[in-house]
Amino acid sequence: MLESIDPLTLAQRYHDAMPIRIREYLNHRGIIDDAIDLHLLGWNGERITIPIFDRDARLAFFKLAKDPLDRGQGPKMLVPGGTSAELYGWERLRGKPPRIVICEGEFDRLALESRGIAAVTSTGGAGVFRKEWTEDFLGIPEIYVCFDRDLAGTRGALRIARWLPQIRIVELPEEVGPGGDVTDLFVRLEWTRDNFLRLLEKSRPAPVDVSAAAPTRIASKAAGNRDEVDAVKSGLRIEEVLARFMRLSTSGNRFRGHCPFHEDRTPSFVVYPENQAFHCFGCGAHGDVLTFLMQVEKISFREALERLRGWADQPNDRTA
Ligand SMILES: [Zn+2]
Repeated sequence: MLESIDPLTLAQRYHDAMPIRIREYLNHRGIIDDAIDLHLLGWNGERITIPIFDRDARLAFFKLAKDPLDRGQGPKMLVPGGTSAELYGWERLRGKPPRIVICEGEFDRLALESRGIAAVTSTGGAGVFRKEWTEDFLGIPEIYVCFDRDLAGTRGALRIARWLPQIRIVELPEEVGPGGDVTDLFVRLEWTRDNFLRLLEKSRPAPVDVSAAAPTRIASKAAGNRDEVDAVKSGLRIEEVLARFMRLSTSGNRFRGHCPFHEDRTPSFVVYPENQAFHCFGCGAHGDVLTFLMQVEKISFREALERLRGWADQPNDRTA
């Protein structure tokens, strides 16, 4: 019987069946009625149903949250077996908002959305973020990662930075306590939208870790010469060095061009002056000015460093 029902119809049916007490519970978790209705949250008789839509706007599966009256040991969230992690909030990315927050759970996302703050989350939690999701973030000027205040959250944010180096990392304030999350801010600490926007202003860029992306052989050498590298890098602007090898056009406070490392028609190569890094959304090439030079000229670490040092001494020489 159930198999014959279109999933969207089922979602609507669950939505219509949501008892008042569940709606009130969600309100107490900072999720307003409009968000409950828009995102078709529902009730299957045992658990709260959260329909998860895939990139093509098809209903992929339901995430099932525990009944607040259920005092048993069962998991707070259930995912149907056999499903892989999905991004919750594709429709938000399509709208290309001026900023987006990647947070750590479906309810956190909905609490943010309830305050008019565009947000997405991975249904796999802080530990799962797929590289193939990143291209949909192209064209969104500000991307924040705001995970729970714990080790898994910190690690998860750094993982995302490997694919999306332009992210800014938001640290939840100490008041949320260990393991505290976005919902705690709005519910327990009674934060407003403005409070949260001010927290975003205090975010910091993701650390550029060359060793995370460069081949190991390069990374170990580079790591041993970190001070020397930093000294040379600080005398250069990454966009000026890269402009010797490729055409770059400005795009907000970033630069963009056709990737020299793969057949790139889009252009999908982005330069981030603020953290002196580049990232290609087509082939995943990623690094700093030094790894760029080594790879594009196929030269050694030492040779690249020497050449950069020469350019750093004569910053206006564009003809090299
Ligand atoms: Zn590329």
